[in-house]
Order: sequence, then C-alpha cells, then structure tokens
Amino acid sequence: MQADVWNILDTCAFFTQIHPTGKLATVTNIDEEIINRQSKQYYTNLKSKGLKIIEPSEKSLEFVSKKATETGDYDVLSSIDLKILALGYELKGNVISDDFAIQNVSLHMQLEIIGCNGNKIKEIRKWKYKCSACNKITSKKETKCSFCGSKDIFRIKAK
Ligand SMILES: [Zn+2]
Repeated sequence: MQADVWNILDTCAFFTQIHPTGKLATVTNIDEEIINRQSKQYYTNLKSKGLKIIEPSEKSLEFVSKKATETGDYDVLSSIDLKILALGYELKGNVISDDFAIQNVSLHMQLEIIGCNGNKIKEIRKWKYKCSACNKITSKKETKCSFCGSKDIFRIKAK
C-alpha cells in the first residue's frame, strides 16, 4: 500500500480499531455515530495523532449521490455515509468501511475499499427493483409499479 494515500475511516474503523495506518481522514459529524466510550476514546486519540476531520464539498456530495443512484444504493445511505463517499472521491483515498452500500458505491467510483476486518473487496453489485405483484423488474426505484400500480416493490440483486 502506498504511504501517501488517504484512508477515509467510516465508523467501523473506530469500533474495531482495525484499519490501515498512514494518512487518516474522516468526516464531520462521525462522532455522532461513535457511541461507546472505548471507540470515542480511540477517536479522540487518533485526532490528537493527526486524524483529519473534513467536510466534503456540496459538489462532491452531489456527485456521489448520482453515483449511488446509479448502483441503486442511494436509498439506504445515511448523510454520514454519503459524506464518507464524497471524501473518498475528493481525496482519491481508500474507503475503510463494512457498510455494504458504501463499499458498492466506492467500487463503482473506482475507489479502493477495505473492510474493517482488513479484507479488500472487489465485486460491484447492482440492484434492481421488483414488483411482488406482477414481477416487473425496473432499474430505478419507483414508489408504485408502473405496470400494475402495486406499491409492494422490493430490492433484488441484478447479478
Ligand atoms: Zn407490478
């Protein structure tokens, strides 16, 4: 691993305390998701050792929202998740996360993704939406099936 590459830490990095070393960054408001005392302490320690807290730009957030819509992950991402992705995009860094949707969108943006167990993930998954009444499959999420009008639509793996 290159030493000068940024590592963008999602919450799991603070819980597990397993992540690459080197240049570390995370997003503003992540401390709201770090609830237990041990993780909070770890977060504070990392900050004193140079962990950067960065607020990504609106432009990057817009970009990653678009990318997340393309993979079908947008609906399950929190605002902090989107910030992690936006920061990964801005710093061209490794995204350190166990969140499946974050991993998926990162791969879609050609970012390196590392799980909090240290594993690298390589496979992108695209989602589709299936109407449970008539089985019509669409690539975009609809609140109502355009074919039969049913509201019972669920997410399926596209491949
Ligand atoms: Zn239908």
